[in-house]
Amino acid sequence: MAAIEAEGLSKQYPNDVQALDGLSFQVREGTVFGLLGPNGAGKSTTVKILTTLSLPDAGGASVAGIDVLKQPAKVREAIGVVSQTGGLDREATGRENLRLQGQVHGLGGRSLEARISELLEQFGLADAGKRLVREYSGGMQRRLDVALALVHQPKVLFLDEPTTGLDPEVRSEMWDEIGRLKNLGLTVLLTTH
Ligand code: ADP
Repeated sequence: MAAIEAEGLSKQYPNDVQALDGLSFQVREGTVFGLLGPNGAGKSTTVKILTTLSLPDAGGASVAGIDVLKQPAKVREAIGVVSQTGGLDREATGRENLRLQGQVHGLGGRSLEARISELLEQFGLADAGKRLVREYSGGMQRRLDVALALVHQPKVLFLDEPTTGLDPEVRSEMWDEIGRLKNLGLTVLLTTH
C-alpha cells in the first residue's frame, strides 16, 4: 500500500511563480523517500501540502490512506513533522519538551511518561532527559527534535532538510538515525538538496 500518494499537484504563487506543475509520486509503506532538488525546486511547497499547511491549486494527495484535502485533521494525527527551524524549548529539559508535545496530542498520565522514557532511550538521551536542552550538543538537539515528532506514534514522518547545517559527524549520525526509523515500520519522507 502507498503511505503517501500525490496526484497532479500544482501550486502557483503570486508573480507567476509556478512552484509545482502536476507533480505525482507514490511512497511505499515502510520506506524512506527523498525529495531531492535545488533551492526553489518546490520541495517545501510539496511538504506543506502533504502536511495540510497549504492547499494545492490543482491535484490531490493522501497520507496514510487519508485524503489531505477532505480530512486534514485526521492526517495531522497520523503524521509527525520535523521542520528546519525545530520546535524545542531550550529552557526546558528533554523530558519536559516531550511531555508538552504529548499533551498537545491529548496524551498524559503514566502512559505518556512511559512513552517519553521509551523515546529518550531509543534516541540515546536517557541520561540527558533531565538536563536543559540548551546544554545539549547539536546532534542531541536534532535527535530530540525527531523524538518530539514521534510522541504520538505517527505512521508517516516528514523531515525537512534534516542534515542541512550539521557538521559531518552529526550528519552521518542523522543518516544512521533515519535508517533506524525505517526499521520501526515508519514511512519517512525527507527533503534535501
Ligand atoms: P524548495 O523547498 O525546493 O527550496 P519551495 O517550495 O520553497 O522550494 O519554493 C518553490 C518556489 O516557490 C520558489 O520559486 C519560491 O521562491 C516560491 N515560493 C515558495 N513559497 C512562497 C510564498 N509563500 N510566496 C511566494 N512564493 C513562494
